Amino acid sequence: MFAGIDIGGTSIKGVITDSECNIITSGQVHTPDGAEEIDLAIAGLINDMARDSGIRRNRIRAAGIGAAGAVDNRKGLVITSPNIPAWKNHPLAKNIKELTRIKVVLENDATVATAGAWLQNNIRGMSNWIMVTLGTGIGGGAVIENRIYTGQNGSSLEIGHMTIDINGRECPCGNRGCLERYASATALVQTALQHMASDRTSSLHRRTETGRLTSKIIYEEACAGDPLALKSFNEISTYLGYGMVNLINIFNPQAVVFGGGLSQAYRLIFPVVKSVVREHAMNGLKERTRFIHLRQQSRMSAMGAARMAIEHLRYSY
Ligand SMILES: [Zn+2]
Repeated sequence: MFAGIDIGGTSIKGVITDSECNIITSGQVHTPDGAEEIDLAIAGLINDMARDSGIRRNRIRAAGIGAAGAVDNRKGLVITSPNIPAWKNHPLAKNIKELTRIKVVLENDATVATAGAWLQNNIRGMSNWIMVTLGTGIGGGAVIENRIYTGQNGSSLEIGHMTIDINGRECPCGNRGCLERYASATALVQTALQHMASDRTSSLHRRTETGRLTSKIIYEEACAGDPLALKSFNEISTYLGYGMVNLINIFNPQAVVFGGGLSQAYRLIFPVVKSVVREHAMNGLKERTRFIHLRQQSRMSAMGAARMAIEHLRYSY
């Protein structure tokens, strides 16, 4: 048996699976503050899931853990994490192994999301595809020739930080003009706010009288036909389309699979992305790439983490 753990900013989700990645049991705890508290919460979740389902801990061969940020999967380190600032060169794999006596495979969150998505029926059969997660930022993963690509040490496919405008908006990564500054949920809100300053007629003004603007509000108003909300979606989707042009020209994938909260707005986003790709990607590469959105699956990443534990036992701690 294997455990899979997905560490998010608000909750830590876990599963225990068999060696075919079928879920035996699952659980969830709130993400505490502080590096040590998170280690203890992960170990506690694994122990609780095992106890509640009557599984002896020594029957769990390895635990896969997905952590947001830059990881070193060979050394089992979280180098930095945007969600959890306390993690700086944090030896997460070693700590969890000490607490649980279970081998640990550490990967970044986009990699476990990719591994989890690959378990889904409509994606399972593909050998070359790209995953794009659209949320507050933009992450990514890739399956190349039937293997999940993880770069030399577990951090790769930072799709959100591909340069779209060399003179563009500053990015916390230190560069400027990164895709996620133009095409994420955060960018959607920023784009709409800029337009709202010069357009008083939008329904977004009424929706934000008592609270701040969110991507969900913009989505709802775009679906109701508000021109400013639609224009904002159109702009971020155009930038996203150029990002996809770059990816398609580089990878020639069978499909680009979109996950993350903002991907639920695919009905607004995909037509624009497809039209930019049709117009700008190279002939011979662009014709057969499919665009697929993932249905929200709350345990997808935890299942992907278990899958990475199954496949990458050799990297484990
Ligand atoms: Zn960046």
